[in-house]
Formats: sequence, structure tokens, C-alpha cells
Amino acid sequence: MTENGRSNLTSEHLDVLIVGAGLSGIGAAHHLQRSVPGKRYAIFEARADLGGTWDLFRYPGIRSDSDMHTLGYRFRPWTAAKSIADGESILEYVRETAREEGIEPHIRFHHRVVAAEWASEEARWTVEAERADSGETVTVTCDFLFVNSGYYRYDQGHLPEFPGIERFGGTVIHPQHWPEDADYAGKRVVVIGSGATAVTLVPAMAEDAAKVTMLQRSPTYILSLPGEDPVALRLRKWLPDRAVYPIVRWKNVLMQMLTYRLARRRPELVKKLIRRGVVNALPVGYDVDKHFKPKYDPWDQRLCLVPDSDLFKAISDGSAEVVTDTIRTFDETGIELESGERLDADVVVTATGLDLLFLGGMRLSVDGEERDPTRAFVYKGMMLDGVPNFAFTIGYTNASWTLKADLTAEYVCRLLRHMDAGGYEICVPEMGPGGVEEAPLLDFSSGYVQRALDRLPKQGSEEPWKLKQNYPLDLRALRHGQLEDGTMQFRHRVAAVEPVVTTTG
Ligand SMILES: Cc1cc2nc3c(=O)[nH]c(=O)nc-3n(C[C@H](O)[C@H](O)[C@H](O)COP(=O)(O)OP(=O)(O)OC[C@H]3O[C@@H](n4cnc5c(N)ncnc54)[C@H](O)[C@@H]3O)c2cc1C
Repeated sequence: MTENGRSNLTSEHLDVLIVGAGLSGIGAAHHLQRSVPGKRYAIFEARADLGGTWDLFRYPGIRSDSDMHTLGYRFRPWTAAKSIADGESILEYVRETAREEGIEPHIRFHHRVVAAEWASEEARWTVEAERADSGETVTVTCDFLFVNSGYYRYDQGHLPEFPGIERFGGTVIHPQHWPEDADYAGKRVVVIGSGATAVTLVPAMAEDAAKVTMLQRSPTYILSLPGEDPVALRLRKWLPDRAVYPIVRWKNVLMQMLTYRLARRRPELVKKLIRRGVVNALPVGYDVDKHFKPKYDPWDQRLCLVPDSDLFKAISDGSAEVVTDTIRTFDETGIELESGERLDADVVVTATGLDLLFLGGMRLSVDGEERDPTRAFVYKGMMLDGVPNFAFTIGYTNASWTLKADLTAEYVCRLLRHMDAGGYEICVPEMGPGGVEEAPLLDFSSGYVQRALDRLPKQGSEEPWKLKQNYPLDLRALRHGQLEDGTMQFRHRVAAVEPVVTTTG
């Protein structure tokens, strides 16, 4: 035992352990350093570099599909002209943040967290990580565990079984593992998919390929936005970046909210508006309804944004086409479709989505009892019922991820300050005996969400167990709301009483 009564299980103890050095993990470290200075912390990152999503994905044209004024951090203005930005610029933005704020030395690369055990007696987590470089297992303890591991598997994407694909003699690429030397210049390319990745890849590859075909089973709503924000461009002539950024950020937050709300309340009107945009961007006589009229309502699935109509321009100039059909089978030289048509291909890109993964696959246990996070209710969209000193970041599905990531980190810092001020060692959201009705965490009908719902925790029918998916409401609750709300319990550690050793004789 040490002098404070805690047993010295491992060589290193941290106040906070952040898991993941992506956009969220680096943002979390910023908030921690600024709002609760003096905390000993480290970031365990499974990969060899930081940046997460923006380092992993290297396919042609990789870019954001929401604007950088809201995908950027609240604390660091996005100053580049492009508002829908390329992956390399976003990666550099995350890197610069880590470098300039002195976060880099705290990152331990090649550390994949595999398990975390909470012990109430000690009021601390024991965390186990596997080192990808040396094969060693590293164990540390920490007071608070803050998981910023994103939401999908890094080692593999989602790949449906395509009949006959083993016969195909060309190249098959999954966008999650883009080969550096992929050569498609002058070749016939088929991109399978209709989501954000497919609509990004098609115009980018069409610049060099002989022809690119986007093969989709069913259409998606696609909306074109200016790649550069005209309001930001104009304001920058008069005001410094520090002043422009919050104005444009709030403008975009409100625009996103209004379009989302309008889509939910007046779906027919929004369908008409989206359709009009597509009709105007494509040649006269193009079969818009066949290829761009989904069966679901806008925002039943995430809307796809394209900058400056790039997809529609590639279709209009003939370098790309959309085919809406189902694959019957691959053969040696291409794909046979259910309609009887065929697509000859040299390269096939399977833009078929992500495989969702909660908490980076780590196992959790509390006082010796394994906790299955998929059976737990989520508190304020960031903590789990009955799991102490633990938070995770999951961004919005109907707005930029970072809006929620920033608020989550701010709230965690408030909790830590409150615990320090009150001398508490433990904070834990507890549902109490009444309970709440259960609802799926995400209400999207997208395949990748539906496939993964049983691998995600639940939300409840009422606050604070219900997700708001609304930035202004979350801002009020998380930045200014009461921490002691009756659900969040703050406690002192109850250390095990050491047996009194008596001697006789
Ligand atoms: C192609 C693509 C485009 C996107 N575009 C947008 C967009 O325009 N707007 C938007 O809002 N969202 C977008 N998203 C969602 C996007 O993932 C988030 O915006 C954001 O990048 C997530 O950041 P993150 O740090 O939370 O997660 P990630 O970027 O996924 O980073 C998580 C990090 O945690 C690490 N990690 C995971 N598990 C462990 C573990 N067990 N131990 C240690 N480390 C671990 C990973 O290696 C990774 O570095 C996009 C996603 C993809 C795939």
C-alpha cells in the first residue's frame, strides 16, 4: 500500500487517460490542459500516427462532407478558403493543434486499449493496452477514462458478399485501404455504393479514369453546396479570422438545424427542393427520378453533400455515369446486373461502408463484473449507467461531429473540476429504480446503422438518458446545466478497511 492507502498495482498512474488521438481525442486534450491544468494525462493511440479518420482514409478526393466551420474545433478557427475541405488539410489542422498546444508528447502510439477494470475501493481504472510494435501488454491506472475511439473498425470496412467476386480478373479496392500505388488512369472503373464515399470518389477518379460508373442499388439524397462559404469570404475582407469563425459557425449551426427540422416536418417540400437542385445541375432529359429519388424521406439517412456540384458536372461531361441496379454476379471482366445489362471493369471500388464499433472494441468491467456496453443506457450521450469516472465521445448524426465532441470534453472538464472542488473521487450516473423506456441509440435507417444497432448502447425515452441531437440545447445543458442533477452521483472513495493484525503472547 502507498501512503494514501491505495495499492500500487502498476508502475504508472494517470489522472486522466484519453483513448484515441483523432479529431476528438486531440480536442479532449486541449480542453483538459486548458480547463483543468495540472492533470497528469496521456493519450493511448492504437495506430502509428494521429488524426484518426483523416489519417486512415487516403482515397482520391477524400474530403469532409460537412463544413469546416462546424467540423473544426470551437477553440481553433478554420482559416482556409475551402469550407468543404480535403482530408490532407483536415489532418494538418489536427496535427497543428496537437503540435502547437504541446499535446504531442502526451500521445503514446501503438497502444491499443483492450480492457479497463474499475475498482471502487481504489476509485480508479486499471487499463490494459496491447502494443502493436513490440507485442507487449502495458498496464496503467487512471482516475478518469475518456474514450475518443470514433465509431467504426479501423482494420476492416463493411464488405457484403458479392457473388462471383473471386472470378473477377481486375483490381478490387476498398476505400478504407487505398493502395498508395493504385493505378486507374485510362481504366474503366466501377464504384459500388451511393453514400458519401462513393459520391466523393466518382468525380475525383473521373478526372483520370477512362470512365467511372457509380453502381448503386438505390439512390441517396444529394445536395450541392458551395465549396467555399460566400459569407465567410465576404466577412474575411472586413474582420479578423477570430471574429469571422464564430459568426459563420453559428450561421451554419442554425442553417443545419433549420434544414433538418424542415426535412422532418415538411418532407415533401424538402424532397421537391432537393430534386429541383439535381434537375438544374444535370442535362435536360436526364432520368433524375431513377437515380436520385430515394424511397425514404430526407434525413431518415444522412444527406450527402457535394461541393460545387462536382458529381453532377462529371455526369454532365460524360466522364461519369450512375447505374441503379443490382449485382447478379461478377465474372472475369466485369459485373452482370439483374436487369440483364453488364458493366465491364478494370477496377472495382467497394464503397460499401463502415463496420461500426463502440469503444474501440475494449472490454469494460466494474468491481469484477463484466459490463456489456450494448446493454447500458447512455447518460447525456457520453456516459454509461452505473459506470464510474468514464465518458466517451460520439458526435452528432445530423450535424458536424465536433460540435458534440467539444461539448462532451467541456462537460468532462466541468465534472473533473467539480470533483476536485468537492474532494470527490467518484462520479457515476445512476438510473434509479423507476427506469426509462428503451430506444435505439440512432434513429437512422441507413444500412450501416441498422447493421450495428445491437452493438451500440441504448438511449432512454427521457432526459438525461435521451439524446438531443440538437447543438443549442446540448450547449445549454452541458456547458451551463447543473452537474448535480439527481442522476449523477458524486461520492467519496470507501477504501477497504485493513484487517487489524493482533498479536498474542
Ligand atoms: C470518410 C469519412 C468522412 C467523414 N466526414 C465527416 C464530415 O464531413 N463531418 C462529420 O461531422 N463527420 C465526418 N465523419 C465522421 C468522422 O469520423 C468524425 O467527424 C471525426 O473524424 C471523428 O473523430 P474521432 O476522433 O472521434 O474518431 P476517429 O477519427 O475515428 O479517431 C479515433 C482514434 O481512436 C483510435 N482508437 C480506436 N480504438 C482504439 C483503442 N481501442 N485503443 C487506442 N486507440 C483507439 C483510432 O486509431 C483513431 O486514431 C467522416 C467519417 C469518415 C469515415
